[in-house]
Amino acid sequence: MPYFICPNCKERSVDIDAREGFSQDAPACHSCGFGFLFELLDDYYPAPTTGFVACDREGRILALGRGVFELSGWSEADLLGADVVAAFGLSGFDEARNPVQLALEQEKAVTEQIVNLVQAARDERDYVGEQFLGWFLAEQREEVASMGNLLAVIDRAGTDNLLLVEDYLARGTPGAAAPSTPAPPAAGGAL
Ligand SMILES: [Zn+2]
Repeated sequence: MPYFICPNCKERSVDIDAREGFSQDAPACHSCGFGFLFELLDDYYPAPTTGFVACDREGRILALGRGVFELSGWSEADLLGADVVAAFGLSGFDEARNPVQLALEQEKAVTEQIVNLVQAARDERDYVGEQFLGWFLAEQREEVASMGNLLAVIDRAGTDNLLLVEDYLARGTPGAAAPSTPAPPAAGGAL
């Protein structure tokens, strides 16, 4: 069962198909209205004083959640588009073990693994398996495309027009077409 968390208000939620209602849009926060949620890869309960910082694949800051200003003194307008490691002075780790970098690599690695599985299925002439994996590939392509679109908006907005980015995020519309079918059922029943 996929769990999601709002980067703004930290509210956790469950969304079975990772879509907003019956639409093709990514789920938004029903608690504070923030435009998008993050899927939790591990179960996680934030502490009451935790503040989230949402980043793109390059580690550039897209949004600051509630509580970050109180923790850091920085407002979202100060940091939008800034490198997260430099902006918050995160250091003291070996460059190869940079936790921000490791998290950002995750999305790219997942895409590559799925592509390799599709190729293996094709090599084995396993067309059923290939079709099955196709759904995951479409999902992953959407995630990568979403960030690409968002980056383009940020680049266009520049530093003088941050409200344009806000408006884009508030509408919650980043993304390419979602996979046209729901996720295939998990082997062995419910997860
Ligand atoms: Zn929220």
